[in-house]
Amino acid sequence: MNNITDVLPLLAEPKKIWITTHHKPDGDALGSTLGLYHYLKQKGHDPVVVSPSEVPDFLVWLPGIDTVLNFESEPKLCLKRLQEADLIFCLDFSRLDRIKAMEQPLRQATQPRVLIDHHLNPDYEAFQYGMSEPEKSSTCEMVYDFIRLAGDEALISNEVSQCLYTGVMTDTGSFRFPITTAAVHEMLADLKRRGLDHAVIHQHIYDSWSAERMRFLGFVLYQRMEIYPQQHVGIVTLSQEDQQRFRIATGDTEGMVNYPLSIEAVTMAVMLTEKKDEIRMSFRSKGNIDVSTFAAQHFNGGGHFNAAGGRSQLSLEETVKKLKTLLKILPAESKEVPANR
Ligand code: 5GP
Ligand code: MN
Repeated sequence: MNNITDVLPLLAEPKKIWITTHHKPDGDALGSTLGLYHYLKQKGHDPVVVSPSEVPDFLVWLPGIDTVLNFESEPKLCLKRLQEADLIFCLDFSRLDRIKAMEQPLRQATQPRVLIDHHLNPDYEAFQYGMSEPEKSSTCEMVYDFIRLAGDEALISNEVSQCLYTGVMTDTGSFRFPITTAAVHEMLADLKRRGLDHAVIHQHIYDSWSAERMRFLGFVLYQRMEIYPQQHVGIVTLSQEDQQRFRIATGDTEGMVNYPLSIEAVTMAVMLTEKKDEIRMSFRSKGNIDVSTFAAQHFNGGGHFNAAGGRSQLSLEETVKKLKTLLKILPAESKEVPANR
């Protein structure tokens, strides 16, 4: 993978640019892709943002979200735009297996792929140019760095600011995680001086719940959260039945995995969400607990040191059992056959 500075000459002339991000995009995924979209548009390019799956409700206010194409619902249009593109930007994921059905078309595409991402263990072979910086708070922070690297501070419009602020805010837990560096605060100060109204963004994301979603949270914390103080673990389990009962939509469970960590004795939280075809897992930790390696070793996932994801093909019950055995909540089953049998 070549340095991202080598991409700058390619952007000297107007280009058609296909921008994409990971499956089930979150605040950083859509904030960074749309921030880049608005910047490139102002620079005279013709960009399009393509998401591998639908956009969550809590982000529908983001400027430009109505232009985002969903690969799941409009694959033909997305592929047509891919064919027409001169350049591909991949944001907030580091391996092509994170984009589900888009993986094959993207592998076959002959246009240069540019990576901007902060996840661990990137697949460098899959990208011709890029920046991979796991020490960065968010991909939004990196898009901000990229715009400045290009010498285009003047193009940081209010739309760009709103998008980039969103991803930094959501990926840093509202600026509280250790990854929130002085550079992050300097970036925020710069966006403020450019006229950003940050309070409106907090309202859009955190004060826009439906009553059902709030009641679902209450139910989950009361009935579906198990705390194991000795092992310092909290486990949240969301079955299909519970999700249907409360009519839970994409994005409604966002952030729920963090609640067990507010308990003093808990240093690792796991949320298991039963999907139609698999169990989705979210891992979060405080301090020196590496959930990225844990997710990679046992649950076919990865991510960051303190925040990772994974999946399981076992049933919900079996996955919980496997997890509890790994975390020494349940004794490991003896594989030895009793002698008297
Ligand atoms: P979440 O629990 O919010 O889905 O994911 C937490 C973090 O881990 C996010 O930064 C997300 O992009 C990342 N992540 C989630 N699933 C995977 C995965 O399967 N592989 C990798 N490398 N990262 C993941
Ligand atoms: Mn991110």
